[in-house]
Amino acid sequence: EHYNVEQKIQEFMAKIEAKNPNEPEFIQAVKEVAVTVIPFIATRKEYTGMKLLERMAEPERVIIFRVPWIDDKGEIQVNRGFRIQMNSAIGPYKGGIRFHPTVNLSVLKFLAFEQVFKNSLTTLPMGGGKGGSDFDPQGKSDMEVMRFCQAFMMELCKHIGPETDVPAGDIGVGAREIGYLFGMYKKIRNEFTGVLTGKGLAYGGSLIRPEATGYGVVYFAEQMLKTINESITGKTVVVSGFGNVAWGVIKKINDLGGKVVTISGPDGYIYDKDGISGEKIEYLLELRASGNNRAEDYAKKYPEAEFFAGKRPWEVKCDIAFPSATQNELDLEDAIKLVANGCLCVTEAANMPSTLEAINYFLDNKVLFSPGKASNAGGVATSGLEMTQNSIRLNWTSEEVDARLKEIMIGIHKACRDYGKEEDGYVNYVKGANIAGFVKVAEAMLAQGVV
Ligand code: GLU
Repeated sequence: EHYNVEQKIQEFMAKIEAKNPNEPEFIQAVKEVAVTVIPFIATRKEYTGMKLLERMAEPERVIIFRVPWIDDKGEIQVNRGFRIQMNSAIGPYKGGIRFHPTVNLSVLKFLAFEQVFKNSLTTLPMGGGKGGSDFDPQGKSDMEVMRFCQAFMMELCKHIGPETDVPAGDIGVGAREIGYLFGMYKKIRNEFTGVLTGKGLAYGGSLIRPEATGYGVVYFAEQMLKTINESITGKTVVVSGFGNVAWGVIKKINDLGGKVVTISGPDGYIYDKDGISGEKIEYLLELRASGNNRAEDYAKKYPEAEFFAGKRPWEVKCDIAFPSATQNELDLEDAIKLVANGCLCVTEAANMPSTLEAINYFLDNKVLFSPGKASNAGGVATSGLEMTQNSIRLNWTSEEVDARLKEIMIGIHKACRDYGKEEDGYVNYVKGANIAGFVKVAEAMLAQGVV
C-alpha cells in the first residue's frame, strides 16, 4: 500500500516534470500538493483513476500576448503579458495580476495552481487564475504606468468578464493600476461591471479589501494559536516585505496587542526594537507609494530602527513569523534559525514564501505552520465579497465585510484541521489545506464530466 502511493507520487511528478521543463516554481507547487493529495486519493474509490490531479495541473487555457507601449521619452517598449485560466470547475477564473520583472510562465502557473485550491477553501464560487507581466513599475512615471495598463488591457479585455474571469491585484498592482485597468476595460467594452476586484471605493470597490489579506492572515494565526492556548497579545512578531499584505498584518497585530519588530525590502531588513506601531504603520504606505522599494528608508526616518543590508529578518528572535514578501523568501537555513530561536508559529502571508525543505523542517519540528493558500485566502475571499456587492449593487459596511472575512478564515482553519490532524494531535495544515481545497474542485470536476 505505502509503497504504491510513493510510487504513484514519483510517477506523477516525473510526468509533470517532463511536461513542464524549466518551470521550477510550478513543479514545486504541484509537488507540495501531490505528496499530500495522492495518498488521500488512494483512499477514495470515486477519485482513483479519474486523473483529477493531472487535469488540475494542466491549465484550461494559457494566454500570452505582446504589450507594446510608449515611454516618456517617446521610445517603444515591449513587454510580455500573461493570463493563466487554470480551473473553472467551481466558478469563474479568479486571481490577481502581478507586474514584476521576475514574472514568467512558471511563476504565474504556480500562482494560478495555488489559487485554485485557495479559492476553493474560501467556500465562495471562484475558480482559479493568475496573470501579469514582466513590466517593472519601479521608477516608471504615473503616465507610463497608465499607458502600460491601457496597453495590457487592450488585449486582456478579450479574455475576461464578470462571468468569465475576474482579475485583481498582486505584487506591483495596487489601487492605481486597478483603476487604470478598469477605466480601459470600460472604455473598450462600454460596460460598467465588476470585472476586476480591488477597485477604488468610488467605483464599486469594497471596504476592507486593502486590509483583507493581512487581516485574514492574522485571524488565521489567532485560530492556530488558540489550539495551543496561546494568543497574539504580548507576542514578538517578525514580518517580511512592506507591501499591502505586510501592512495589513502589522495593523491587525497592533490591534491585538502584539509587537512587530521587522519589515524588509529587496535591500535588506530593518529591526525596530520599539515596535512598528502608530504613525509608523501609515508611513509604510508612504514608503510604498514613493515608488522606492527600500526598507532602509524606514531606518533613516526612525533612527531607533537598525538596518541590516542584504539580510532577511528570519534571524531575529520572535514568537511568530509572517513571511509577507514573495515566493521562496524563506529557505531551510532560515527555518532552522527560526526554530532554534523558539518561534512557535509561522503563518505564510505571501504565496509559497517557504521552500519545500523549509516547510518539511517546520512540520518535522511540529511548529504551527500554515501554507499561504490557506492563511492568505482572506484577500481573494474579500474579492469574492466585492463581486457579491457588485452583483447586488450594494455596499456593505466595514463591520459587515470584516465579520464575513473573519468567519471565512475561521472556516478555512477548521477545514484544514479536519483534513490535517495527525494521530499525535499535531495539525499538518499543509496537508489539510491541500486536501480540503482539492475535494470541492474534484467533486465539481467529477460532476461535470471529462471536459
Ligand atoms: N493576489 C491575491 C492572491 O494571491 C488576491 C487575488 C484576488 O483577489 O483575486 O490571492
